[in-house]
Formats: sequence, C-alpha cells, structure tokens
Amino acid sequence: TDIIQTRLLSKQYGSATAVSNVSMNVKQGEIYGFLGPNGAGKSTIMKMLLGLVKPTGGQIELFGERLLVDSIDHLKRIGHLIETPVFYERLTAEQNLELHGEYMGYYNPQAAREALELVELLGVENKQVRQFSLGMRQRLGIARAISTRPELLILDEPINGLDPEGIHAMRILFRRLRDEWGISLLISSHLLSEIEQVADTIGVIHHGRLIREVSMDTVRAST
Ligand code: ADP
Ligand code: ADP
Repeated sequence: TDIIQTRLLSKQYGSATAVSNVSMNVKQGEIYGFLGPNGAGKSTIMKMLLGLVKPTGGQIELFGERLLVDSIDHLKRIGHLIETPVFYERLTAEQNLELHGEYMGYYNPQAAREALELVELLGVENKQVRQFSLGMRQRLGIARAISTRPELLILDEPINGLDPEGIHAMRILFRRLRDEWGISLLISSHLLSEIEQVADTIGVIHHGRLIREVSMDTVRAST
C-alpha cells in the first residue's frame, strides 16, 4: 500500500516553476529519499504534502485518501521536521515534547520517553533546551515529531550540518524508526553520500522535476 502518492504535482510561484509534474509513490514501511541540489524543489514538495503550500497543479493522496484543501485529520498521522526546529529554550526537552503533545491532542508520557530514548536524549531530558547543541536539537526535533506516534515522518535535510558521528547516529535512527516503529520516512538531502545508505528508494529532483527513481535494493543486490 502507498502512504504517499502524487500525480503530476506542480507548484508555480508567479512565472517561476518550483515543482513540475512530479508523480511518485512512497510505500508503507519505506524510506524514500529526495536527492537534489538546493533550489531543486524538495522542500516545496514536502510543504505541499503537509498542506503548508497549496499546489498549483496535480493531486496528492495520503494514506489512500485524496488530500483536499481543508483536510486536517491526516495531520496527526504525520510527523515532520522541515526547517531548523524551534523550541521553548527555557523549558526542558521533556517539557517541550509535552507541550507539543498537548497541542497535537495526543500526549503520552511513555511514548515521549521512548522517543527521547530512541534519539539518545534520555539522561538530558530535564535540561533546558538552550544548553543543547545543533545535533541534539535536530534529534530533539525528531523525538518531538515521533512522540505523537505518526505513521509517516517527513524530514527536510535532517542530516545537514551534523558531524560524522551525528550523521551515523541519524542513519541508525532512521532504520530503527522504520524497523521498530513501523514508520515510513520521506527524507531530503543535497548529498548522495548522506542518502544512499539510508534510503530504500531515491528520487532525484532537478529543476522541480523528478528525473530519476532508483531502488536501492536493486543497487545493493548487484554490488
Ligand atoms: P529545495 O528544497 O530543493 O532546496 P525549494 O523547494 O526550497 O528547493 O525551492 C524550489 C524553488 O522554488 C527555488 O527556486 C526557490 O527559490 C523557489 N521558492 C521556494 N519557495 C518560494 C516562495 N515562497 N516564493 C517564491 N519562490 C519560492
Ligand atoms: P531550503 O534551502 O531549506 O529549502 P530556502 O532558503 O530555499 O530553504 O527557503 C527558506 C524559506 O523562504 C522557505 O519558506 C521558502 O518558501 C521561502 N523562499 C525560498 N525562496 C524564495 C523566493 N525566491 N521568494 C520568496 N520566498 C522564498
């Protein structure tokens, strides 16, 4: 089954084309990676999937249902990190998750702790976020996104700016989210080296178009 399906999805900003006729599917339990240079249109596609940007053409189906302008029910089923995450700096990591959970209408302290454990922030959950490094913030952003138990996680450039150790931790985290939590992931990156080792499928985005799709199973099997 498909978690995400787009058909001829397009976005124009005035006369500028940000996304052009993108048709793609993300299967349940899959890690799908968008690969493309800055300005290729990756964020715009993600924002359209999240309902933050209105498409100028094409269709989106999420969880098998057509996305309409006023659809909101599906939002609880999607976690996301699309910009540098913003936190309440003087609240603790755990308090940030609690506030988010209450806002989303689902707060489960156990799920929040499991999320913190998964991103390796259990132990510092009572520290104020203002003491956190970039990598810790990125991981806290992911913990926040998964603390409400979404079925789909959309992450825009989650590895950007991390050191090699942070990148390694992220890779392990993505696989655990897929294998242990059963979450489907859509991840973007401008670097092949970041995405090739985590994605099951890579969609290459260039000038707003999906120019190529590669199944990594096929690649891994032949090497
Ligand atoms: P990527 O995520 O691959 O870096 P983006 O989706 O951010 O690419 O951008 C795709 C193109 O759309 C770029 O040329 C960008 O400048 C343009 N763009 C993105 N958002 C807007 C906006 N709000 N208004 C006008 N142009 C935009
Ligand atoms: P990223 O590189 O993470 O995709 P950008 O720097 O392209 O982000 O965009 C940052 C924000 O500015 C986004 O919300 C995007 O919609 C907006 N934006 C990007 N390009 C333009 C543009 N040419 N005109 C207006 N807004 C833009």
